[in-house]
Amino acid sequence: MESILEGQLYKNTLNLLRKSCEIANVDPNVRERLSKPKRALIVSVPIRLDDYTVKVFHGYRVQHSQTLGPFKGGIRYHQHVNLSEVAGLAMLMTFKNSLLQLPLGGAKGGITVDPTKLSRTELQNLTRRYTSEISNIIGPEIDIPAPDVGTDPQTMAWLMDTYSQEKGHAVLGVVTGKPVEIGGSLGRTGATGLGVVFCTEEILKVNNKTMNGTTVAVQGFGNVGSHAALYAHQRGAKIVAISDIAGGIANPSGLDIPKIIEHYKLKKSFDGLDLPHEKISNDQLLTIKTEVLIPAALDGAITGDNANQIQAKFVIEGANGPVTAEADAILEKKGITVVPDILANGGGVIVSYFEWVQGIASFFWDEEEVNKKLHHQITKAFHRVWEFHKEKQVPMRVAAMCVSAKRLEKAMLLRGLYPR
Ligand code: NAD
Repeated sequence: MESILEGQLYKNTLNLLRKSCEIANVDPNVRERLSKPKRALIVSVPIRLDDYTVKVFHGYRVQHSQTLGPFKGGIRYHQHVNLSEVAGLAMLMTFKNSLLQLPLGGAKGGITVDPTKLSRTELQNLTRRYTSEISNIIGPEIDIPAPDVGTDPQTMAWLMDTYSQEKGHAVLGVVTGKPVEIGGSLGRTGATGLGVVFCTEEILKVNNKTMNGTTVAVQGFGNVGSHAALYAHQRGAKIVAISDIAGGIANPSGLDIPKIIEHYKLKKSFDGLDLPHEKISNDQLLTIKTEVLIPAALDGAITGDNANQIQAKFVIEGANGPVTAEADAILEKKGITVVPDILANGGGVIVSYFEWVQGIASFFWDEEEVNKKLHHQITKAFHRVWEFHKEKQVPMRVAAMCVSAKRLEKAMLLRGLYPR
């Protein structure tokens, strides 16, 4: 377990937990329990590559807490995945699910792999073998994975099929973020981005502003970033800059996001775009003149090195952990409001929860109903955090953690410690 504590994300989350528990007066025994995951599984994932050689990848599933319900959290395919990062993300899932009032615990999984270097067949083999290796500790009532960086609905379809083949019948509830044709929920694909935009609307509202004409810059153009850009654009915001791993594009008059999404779907790049724009670097995107900045790529994007140059008034964390602790302190001093990840990107897990409920009931809702329920759930959470932030005069990140830890405290004290 000691190596779990080594990573920066894990350390930051622990520090935040410690600080929040002091402010919210959380029982120290509860804090002690929450500081370590319940279980961490490391697996070898051997697959045959297209050239018939065998390669072994490292896979992880960390289950942090199941006090509130089954473990829940995404699966990440990225070359930098390691045990400590997965554990930190698992812990964040516990706090996210508690804050959002979901009957779910927290978990995360991942494989250390650059998925862009594998063929479709290799990716399918990797997913099926990983699923098989962790199948003893997942299940609709135990632990329900979902997509994250480098994985998508197709990955979830392979996972669901592998698990179902082993059980001998279709198990819809084992995974969320599946394609709609095999039990996925309408609205799930865009849900995280939509939740980010709902939170942006609320933070603007409490500051007597609206989305209409507000300038927005988005880092990352994957599932979260592209949907956040699209939904903000549809609500009248001016998207002045976007980026992916290769760099960004900007236009102070606003980018035509629907057209860019069409182009990006075909080319997987902003290159060759026949629309007015200038090219910018990823560093420039983060420090561009904008009212709202949405980091929606990976953790550690805003650091002690660039936080001083951030010009945005509001940072809405689409990604998990995009602002380091050092950067957080600098942004606070500069009067920049950060809407934290466990709230801002909670739309994905809220609709994942809806998908799980629909799968178990075998009764599916239309997209309007899904989005309406998502709006209700995430804005309620936003205002719980906002009230705490106003009352205690603490940053929203600390407020979110306090609200979340208080709910967990009540549940943990009611359930008690087994055997005593
Ligand atoms: P994704 O793989 O679909 O997209 C990631 C995007 O980030 C890609 O466009 C990639 O090019 C870009 N990127 C990577 N490194 C970059 C860099 N240095 N600069 C700029 N762009 C860079 O992943 P996603 O599902 O959109 O997830 C993004 C973040 O949101 C992650 O932190 C993830 O944990 C978090 N998140 C995702 C979901 C979800 O439902 N997918 C839910 C909650 C949180």
